[in-house]
Amino acid sequence: MKIFKNGTVVTGDGKTVLERGNVIEADGLIMDVTLSYDENLESYAEEVIDCTGKCVMPGMINHHQHGITFGPMFASGCVNYGDEFIMSHLDRSLLQGHTTVLNIDGFVTMDEVRETQKVHPIRIKAATTHAPTNYHAGELCDGKGFLEKHNEMTVEKMLSEGAICIGEVGGGHTLGGGGQDYLYIPRAVKERKGKDIDYLQARAMKLSVLGRYIEESYYDRDRVAQALKDAKLDSFLTPEETKDIVYKTTLASVKVALDGYREAAILAKRYNVPLMIHNAPTSKHIVHEIAKMGLNTLICCHSNYLFTKDECVENGRYLKQFPGVVLDAAVHDPWGAKALVATPENLFAFYENDLVDIISTDFAAGKSDSMLEAIQHAALEEKLVGLAKAVYQGTARVAEVLPRLAPNLGLIKESYTADIVVTEYPTLKNVERVYIGGKLAAKDGKVIR
Ligand SMILES: [Zn+2]
Repeated sequence: MKIFKNGTVVTGDGKTVLERGNVIEADGLIMDVTLSYDENLESYAEEVIDCTGKCVMPGMINHHQHGITFGPMFASGCVNYGDEFIMSHLDRSLLQGHTTVLNIDGFVTMDEVRETQKVHPIRIKAATTHAPTNYHAGELCDGKGFLEKHNEMTVEKMLSEGAICIGEVGGGHTLGGGGQDYLYIPRAVKERKGKDIDYLQARAMKLSVLGRYIEESYYDRDRVAQALKDAKLDSFLTPEETKDIVYKTTLASVKVALDGYREAAILAKRYNVPLMIHNAPTSKHIVHEIAKMGLNTLICCHSNYLFTKDECVENGRYLKQFPGVVLDAAVHDPWGAKALVATPENLFAFYENDLVDIISTDFAAGKSDSMLEAIQHAALEEKLVGLAKAVYQGTARVAEVLPRLAPNLGLIKESYTADIVVTEYPTLKNVERVYIGGKLAAKDGKVIR
């Protein structure tokens, strides 16, 4: 038995914050959440954790992560970043207070998930996109991580083996999103010209050729020439070369990827499972089309991403009118790395306009800030949302929306599984302890294996 004593307890139900609460754990389960208890109980406890000045919460359920299993990555099926990266990425996630992570690199197999789970205490779950059109979109874009077993796998088999939903359909790579900026376009320029360019230069190339909605008809030579000049690329790239690089790295897979959305929606209906789709300017129209299909659960991923602030609010409001639509707001990296998303402006706009259903970190090249950091800023510093509700959107609400992701998790409540984080308060991003199933999994910045 463990007693978490005298902390600010946020239970995850969306309403309850106990200013001086206690949580009692036994045999991996939560026994009680209480404002007071008989002091004699302490003599039976293996540990009494003084949580004065700290916050006690359910472990965060991060339902949108890439690069956390030993399988192919992204909707493009690229080779993963290697075992060392994956292990440190999982460590990072656990130390940030996430106790359950959903791998939404949809082409991994459950074998690969189990191999990863064997070597890490964090709870790893998986989603699937093993269907022909989605697979083909991946091949067109990259597909270098695909083996025979990935090709042979099906959505049906994955679901029967434990995958919890279909997704992520149409990741940024196949739809000309962030992956092009930080991976595929720089790589193509390096191969062809032997020059290193950064993600902003790559993005400038892409946008000048195809525009924000990825349209072939957008091309205009003068516009590209000007963009190359502005991005200081004109000394080694012509508009024609730029067009060729952008078409090959970006446009080719976009058309197939859009059909992949329709394929996945039909499968989600057939098997009655939640569907997670990449929601960004390039996929806006297809996301609207799928939203109108009336699926039971349609998670529109990172709905605050890549749109302008006004666009994401307007688009979020539009999508909310369709039954079954769930808006995910992504944290990304606006406080730490700032490489993918430079400011939390869009995230804050989502909170301000009450558009957030659930939150997740997304990938941000493996440098995402934590869900707790987003909650800290939005709820405690900017006061855009109440603390109880903000925690709910990263815990119990996620478990409700994705019922097979985290059964019996997401709440500090009697008889729930004891996945618990203890953080500083109000600096929630400073995680001190993480418990999984009542067992200490991380403490003071170190993962316990
Ligand atoms: Zn995505």
